[in-house]
Amino acid sequence: MDFRLGDEEAEILEMVRKVGQERFRPGAFERRHDFEPPEDHLRLLGDLGVLGMSLPEEYGGAGRRELDAVLTIEELAYACPVTANFALLTLTGPASLIAKSGSDEQKARYLPPLCDGSARFAISMTEPEAGSALTDLKTRAEIRGDECILNGQKIFCSGAPHAHHFLVFARFGPGTDGIGAVIVHRDTPGFTLSAVHRHFSGEAWCELFFDDAIVPLSDVVIAGGQFRQLMAAFSLERCGAAAYVLGVAQIAFDLAKEYVEDRHQFGRPLTDFQFVQRNLADMYIVLESARLLLYRAIVRGDDGLPSRLDSSAAKIAATDAACFVTDTAMQLHGGTGMSMEMPLEWLYRVARVYQVAGGTNDVLRSGLAGAIVGRGLSQRLAKPDRALAPK
Ligand SMILES: Cc1cc2nc3c(=O)[nH]c(=O)nc-3n(C[C@H](O)[C@H](O)[C@H](O)COP(=O)(O)OP(=O)(O)OC[C@H]3O[C@@H](n4cnc5c(N)ncnc54)[C@H](O)[C@@H]3O)c2cc1C
Repeated sequence: MDFRLGDEEAEILEMVRKVGQERFRPGAFERRHDFEPPEDHLRLLGDLGVLGMSLPEEYGGAGRRELDAVLTIEELAYACPVTANFALLTLTGPASLIAKSGSDEQKARYLPPLCDGSARFAISMTEPEAGSALTDLKTRAEIRGDECILNGQKIFCSGAPHAHHFLVFARFGPGTDGIGAVIVHRDTPGFTLSAVHRHFSGEAWCELFFDDAIVPLSDVVIAGGQFRQLMAAFSLERCGAAAYVLGVAQIAFDLAKEYVEDRHQFGRPLTDFQFVQRNLADMYIVLESARLLLYRAIVRGDDGLPSRLDSSAAKIAATDAACFVTDTAMQLHGGTGMSMEMPLEWLYRVARVYQVAGGTNDVLRSGLAGAIVGRGLSQRLAKPDRALAPK
């Protein structure tokens, strides 16, 4: 499989790296303390055409391949994880669902402000009783005339405090086919947000409450019947998360490499010791192999949408690699690595939350195992056999 970039693509990526390292890396570690959206960075990325990298040109995007968007996320995360975190949702998440499944009116209305960095979306699927079992979600969407009425509650909506719009998964009818997606504006009547909570990466999230929230019918993206399409868009987001943590892990790798070259013990640089060398080699191998799985998932996707299987494998490999690399980088720094003043423990926390976010790695592994043995492995209890039930 060919992952080589054309001249133009390589130039764009070079530009992203240059802007990232020169403009976003200074102060990147200080930004971890408040984890606020760096508006100037997002505007600059909008002006440079980076935010809408793979979105259609007619709606303000650059019309490039999803692979370019994923490589961009990795570069941005390598420069500044906070900036990249806010860019992530435009580069892969709700924006791509709207681009692929939205009406022309929705695309014209919502994509240009995402591309120029003036608007932000959050995505909300998880509910208090429907986490891994997402298809148990209960938030109801009822179409009445030219309105859609929402009732229910969501949890763990990342980026909610700063989002202008929310892509909310809701139930229009029974079963998986009854699940659809609706765009909800922050100021929608009947829609409220909880106080701000934080994941231990520092990222802010809110609960969302819908109490007869009224959304115009024109903001319904999918009114059920297209669950596969919804999940396919989510596979791309999962790949975005994988790219993100690989960029974060690369920072930790660089810091560790620099440290073991400079630090001397027993009269020699740490790089002279074989245990240290082995750690460096292992960090390199897991990072590079996770990258290959990720790029393959994207390149062989159908219409830019990776399969559930490929995106699960890529996300598991990348998040496990990132946790290993950030953890080993802390270890190689000895006592210095355990310091809260160093960014290393934060890089570890940023990587670690993605073993849960985007579907936990264990649940994704179950899906992979099902594909390996050639059948869906049901996670649900079998319905009791009525014939055997006690009378
Ligand atoms: C940093 C972060 C950001 C997030 N951002 C968002 C967001 O923006 N929008 C959103 O909607 N949600 C978001 N989430 C929520 C996330 O998608 C859920 O936390 C995740 O899907 C798991 O659901 P849960 O927390 O209810 O855990 P549960 O489903 O209750 O799982 C608890 C544990 O049980 C295990 N488990 C459950 N079922 C199985 C099974 N069948 N086989 C094996 N193990 C199982 C899980 O692996 C896990 O270890 C975010 C979460 C985090 C941590």
